Amino acid sequence: MSERIYNFSPGPAMLPYEVLEQAATDILNFDDSGIGICEISHRSKEFMNVATTAEKLLRELLEIPDNYKVLFLQGGASSQFFMIPMNLLGPGKKATYLNTGTWSKKSIKEAQLFGEIDVAFSSEENKFNRVPNSSEYNTAEDSEYLYFVSNNTIYGTQFQDMPASEKMLVSDMSSDILSRPIDVSKFGIIFAGAQKNMGPSGVTTVIIREDLLDKSPENIPTMLKYKTHAEKDSMFNTPPTFPIYIVGKVLQWLKDKGGIKAMEELNRKKAEQIYEVIDAGEYYRGHALKDSRSMMNIAFNLPTAELEAKFIAEAVGLGLNGLKGHRSIGGCRASIYNAFPQEGITKLVAFMQEFEKNNPA
Ligand code: PMP
Repeated sequence: MSERIYNFSPGPAMLPYEVLEQAATDILNFDDSGIGICEISHRSKEFMNVATTAEKLLRELLEIPDNYKVLFLQGGASSQFFMIPMNLLGPGKKATYLNTGTWSKKSIKEAQLFGEIDVAFSSEENKFNRVPNSSEYNTAEDSEYLYFVSNNTIYGTQFQDMPASEKMLVSDMSSDILSRPIDVSKFGIIFAGAQKNMGPSGVTTVIIREDLLDKSPENIPTMLKYKTHAEKDSMFNTPPTFPIYIVGKVLQWLKDKGGIKAMEELNRKKAEQIYEVIDAGEYYRGHALKDSRSMMNIAFNLPTAELEAKFIAEAVGLGLNGLKGHRSIGGCRASIYNAFPQEGITKLVAFMQEFEKNNPA
């Protein structure tokens, strides 16, 4: 096999190598059962155990209170943009949203189909270079919830502290779930597509407070009601079995690494090394303002677009892939989720310093 590359892509992203090795075995013969993990029935004893274990580990790692359900759904994180308002809003109902990037903008658009949406903050005019602190917005008195994206994958900004609000919080944590401890009890709904910090694409994890299950209007499709999936432990229809299996393995890996607090420390150290290079001079310019910086996605520019193209191309030659920024802001972006190894950071930092020396502005 050729040498493994370091993949800085925003998702699907790198997974722990140990997990991939185990999966490679289990695809052919799961747990010595004589059949592969992708071939067993979702209702078999073996798979039920896989799903229960994944849920148990998630509950343990995130300290999810008993009055919350964990759901493994399909349709990507993007389907939550409409499922949430479809289930929690309706004519005459209102919700407050913070507009901090592409993914919140998309959810605002969907939510407007179901209720009145109060956009209490937006950093759009500054190219989404920061997230607000709690003194910069109010949650409307009659809002059902305050919605925010905890980490903005494209712009590399992240709420350092969760928003303070009297209302329940609803959050898209697709790109930073499991990267730092959170207090789940402040939230009505937390959701995350798996393909960054949890596993492969194909499953979206939803953590939902139980009392919300009865809020949905009757006249919405069965598959789009949270209660449908909650009542059947995500087995109303065929769930994405292989992604759920990988999520379980990633969670076990995370637990073995010391859990979320230990991971947060590693994440902070990894991100700091790259921010240090950015802050060392004028050559690299970080997109996010300092107090909004993400530990997961670091978006930055070089002096010119030509140098950025050269930087990205030379990096590939060194096995550093996926550094091109999102098309909406251009530039470069290093996505360094939980499973991204320190060696890749060391290599990138050395390359950034070397490139600057060899390519003066
Ligand atoms: N939310 C965030 C924060 C994301 O980064 C992404 C995808 N990059 C999405 C939502 C959309 O996820 P999906 O492609 O699973 O619909």
